[in-house]
Amino acid sequence: MKSVAVLGSTGSIGTQTLEVIAAEPENFEVQSLAANSSIEVLAEQARKWKPSVVGLIDDSRAHELAAMLPDGTTLVTGQDALADLAASADVVVNGVVGFAGLPVTLSALSAGKRLALANKESLIAAGPVVRQVRSTPGAELVPVDSEHCAVHMCLRAGEGTRQLRRIVLTASGGPFRGRSYESLSTVTVQEALNHPTWSMGPKITIDSSTLMNKGLEVIEAHELFDVSYDDIDVVVHPQSIVHSMAEFSDGATIAQLSDPDMRLPIGYALAFPDRLATPFGALDWTKAMTLEFTQPDRAAFRCLDLAYSAGRSGGTAPAWLSGANEVAVEAFLAGRISWIAIADVVDAALQLWDSTDADTLEAVLDADSRARRVASELIDAGGFQPALSAPRVTEPNRTTAKAGQ
Ligand code: MG
Repeated sequence: MKSVAVLGSTGSIGTQTLEVIAAEPENFEVQSLAANSSIEVLAEQARKWKPSVVGLIDDSRAHELAAMLPDGTTLVTGQDALADLAASADVVVNGVVGFAGLPVTLSALSAGKRLALANKESLIAAGPVVRQVRSTPGAELVPVDSEHCAVHMCLRAGEGTRQLRRIVLTASGGPFRGRSYESLSTVTVQEALNHPTWSMGPKITIDSSTLMNKGLEVIEAHELFDVSYDDIDVVVHPQSIVHSMAEFSDGATIAQLSDPDMRLPIGYALAFPDRLATPFGALDWTKAMTLEFTQPDRAAFRCLDLAYSAGRSGGTAPAWLSGANEVAVEAFLAGRISWIAIADVVDAALQLWDSTDADTLEAVLDADSRARRVASELIDAGGFQPALSAPRVTEPNRTTAKAGQ
């Protein structure tokens, strides 16, 4: 029986983690649950799972939540609460969104725990800082991101990284796969939010439409597996069945296949080195299936190469890329800039990167906040393609949106 801390329990990763645990209650118990501010959902989860501790980052409604918790469950609040919870369970699921997930990653690894990592920011912005604590005895990082979990499985089935030639990350291509750069200048927020194969939050869905998500995953793969950027490739695979691949020195490629279902990578990270007895995403081979692989259009989806470039620069450049991108995506969602301007803002912000090192948490946090400020100032100053007129943004034609897929 493993005790599990489900941090970010009310989000997509958190709720699916609880579904996996519900399937195998003989193997896992919920030790703690934590969320940012969704107290109603958190209270409901606590009544069902009866964890010993519940954490709430935003403490303004702590009294309300305390009244809703079952007997025997302790409430802890504030920014530091999650880091404390991360130090005490056998497995820590980090499903916290954004930068708030970084202390969870550092705390779980420093305490020598298994970290099931779904929070991208930890590795992308703070890779060098995370590297320092990964060598703590007992510390183990198993990625939950579907591509990296696939690579983890492929390396385990092959030779590890010893005779690895390259990692091939697959990308669905998002809703705009096959579209030219020119035609992308007119896409709406609703079209960009319409992902063909994965159902995710708005930020990551927009990142999928620009391929920035894949670019961030390239950086994540570099940090996780210590593979050079020259040996990490991206192929577009619209069916999202092959979740990524590893090619070895003798020419053999090992791939991991399943239907897109996040409960498989979550369960893998919980059960490792065992496997769940419950199947999630198993393929039905009695039905005909076609798998396609094509090269990404790097001119239309500029964010991919911007991420490679930031990754190769190293230091705080990936933190800078990630911070500027978040600001640009917010501006797009708010109708302030066009979809193609997201890459333009990130590009302009990266050119103002100050070449600092990412050797401490403070340096990373500082780079993140400065990148956000720089990106905001660039957007305020104008010069980027503005958003489309309001009616097209607020009244999407669903038929047209679907046709692009
Ligand atoms: Mg992914």
